[in-house]
Amino acid sequence: MEIHELIDSASSVQRIYCGKCSSHLSLVFEVLDEIISGVHFKINGLPFLRCIQCQIRYLPDRSKSAILHLHRQAFEKGSDMITSDRKKTQNDFGFTKVPFIYDSDDYLYIPGLERDFDKGFLTPVFFNKEVLVKYDSHPSYRVQFASKTYGTIWCNDDFSVPFGINKHEKIVMWLGDISRLPIKEQYYLRSENVISDHCIGSEFYDGQIECVFTDLTPEDKLFKERSNFIESFYARFGTKVSRLDQEVLEISLSITRPTLDTPTEQKKLINNLYKVYVESLDKNILSKAIAKECAQKEIVNLGVLQRLKLFIAAVSSEEQATRIMQPLFLLQDLRLIHAHTGSEASKNKKINEIKLELEIDESSTTLEVHDALIAKLRESFHAITSSI
Ligand SMILES: [Zn+2]
Repeated sequence: MEIHELIDSASSVQRIYCGKCSSHLSLVFEVLDEIISGVHFKINGLPFLRCIQCQIRYLPDRSKSAILHLHRQAFEKGSDMITSDRKKTQNDFGFTKVPFIYDSDDYLYIPGLERDFDKGFLTPVFFNKEVLVKYDSHPSYRVQFASKTYGTIWCNDDFSVPFGINKHEKIVMWLGDISRLPIKEQYYLRSENVISDHCIGSEFYDGQIECVFTDLTPEDKLFKERSNFIESFYARFGTKVSRLDQEVLEISLSITRPTLDTPTEQKKLINNLYKVYVESLDKNILSKAIAKECAQKEIVNLGVLQRLKLFIAAVSSEEQATRIMQPLFLLQDLRLIHAHTGSEASKNKKINEIKLELEIDESSTTLEVHDALIAKLRESFHAITSSI
């Protein structure tokens, strides 16, 4: 590298996206061992931004400035060698008396976080993902998802904290937002606080820093519709109709379009969809809502889908309920077909019937079945929300 290249590149701001593949870059601390216009730099622990896909590394703006400064010093002293062990910054940005673990280098070196005002507000603080489960199960809190990896924790509509889930499945929130929470909650969060993995590139970063909302995958859109349904149910009945336990959260994060078009993949996926979109619904809460809507006596011996159907019929109409529930019953049928041992011929016959109901061709692949089912489930959850 030549010094004039560095001066040229320092005139534009380094962003979090890889120049080659546009992936989010991660902050890393590595050795710079390079001759730059006649000066041999050997610096340990220099902050870089690395693309994990392409393995290209970029210099954050502050690292560029530091190299330019050191090069000038070496030039003035007539030296051709710079060796140093960089010390990490240890800034305490204040905001709260609760001693959260964070890395001030994240604030200073991850693009887009440093501001002239509220210094340190956008410092990422990392947590175990159990915090979402705790907040979801707490009666005063709700967890709302805008996608699988970006959402908001609400407390009785009094305040809200945006959060992201990074690619290592850690929860990320801003220090400034956390400091606005009641002190008791801050202490709880501190108990789940983990050291930074310097990785915040996500839909959370795009939405919060770049104000860009990435196109959601169909699976993400479905998860968002589920979240909207839970929200609208809460708005009307003041209670949560679905729970987010550890298992549901983990499965939700894992649901993506399968890469392999095999029956084993399909079976796993159908089971996962069933757990998140059917099993996580609270049967008793549904019964109470039905009773409230149409003074129906206590419902016993009915499965969760039958209760959901009764609920939709109660808030809209019988016809609506039948139409909306169809994809959910198809999901249940697919699960039963995959679970039971039977001859391949009889399984295929049943799957072909399902394909017809999904309005796809009998020759459709398992991936096409998946796509059609996801699309129909989305329509269903959207329609349930609208009828509430
Ligand atoms: Zn890249």
